[in-house]
Amino acid sequence: MGNTVVVAMDGPSGSGKSSTSRGVADRLGLRYLDTGAQFRAITLWMLRHGVDVHDAAAVALRAALPVLVSGTDPLDPTITVDGADVADAIRSAEVTAAVSPVATVPAVRTHLLGLQRAIISEALLEGGIVVEGRDIGSVVWPAAAVKLYLTADPAARAARRTAENGSGSIAATEADLLRRDAIDSSRAAAPLVVPDGAVHLDTTAYGLDEVIARVVEIVEQAVASRASS
Ligand code: C5P
Repeated sequence: MGNTVVVAMDGPSGSGKSSTSRGVADRLGLRYLDTGAQFRAITLWMLRHGVDVHDAAAVALRAALPVLVSGTDPLDPTITVDGADVADAIRSAEVTAAVSPVATVPAVRTHLLGLQRAIISEALLEGGIVVEGRDIGSVVWPAAAVKLYLTADPAARAARRTAENGSGSIAATEADLLRRDAIDSSRAAAPLVVPDGAVHLDTTAYGLDEVIARVVEIVEQAVASRASS
């Protein structure tokens, strides 16, 4: 693409953000950043260091200690903490249960915000990036040329997530998603919101390829209209 672009992809868990973001970034030659993986990696570090994740002061004190490195290739996104590959470990049920409380801690969000903005600034030198999370269009990069808000019915989200995990009950997964949605939407610091100017896509009835094609179209239109204005 002859124009640099930041695509902010927000929405609740299981809405299809990750697969859509990676597919769009691959199709358009953009970098990709999964900010949820960063919150998960900090959470894993806290658990491994014996920090009580429900003790906000204890988490805040250590928020800047984990050394995180996120690789931004959409076909092979990587994440390391203190030099160790944690891509699999951050998907464990233990981390999933602990990540939303950790993500409410302002010191954690401020630390990650700095990293996220540095990664986005660097990617802009190479054409641009698709960034997925909960607060990308609202807080991390409000100037994003394209803001999307993906949702799907809770039952559809739970079915997708259970299939991705390869095991577990859909009902339990749905309860877990709704619990995280409630914490993510009601927290004081950078809650999950539909950002101003975002295109709201409900993916319940659509397959991944259809959603990717629609988002690619939206990004191409935004870039074309910016180039002609
Ligand atoms: O996207 P994923 O489900 O991996 O994100 C894990 C958790 O990280 C979310 O439930 C949320 O608590 C937190 N998160 C966040 N802000 C972001 C991305 C993720 O608070 N931008």
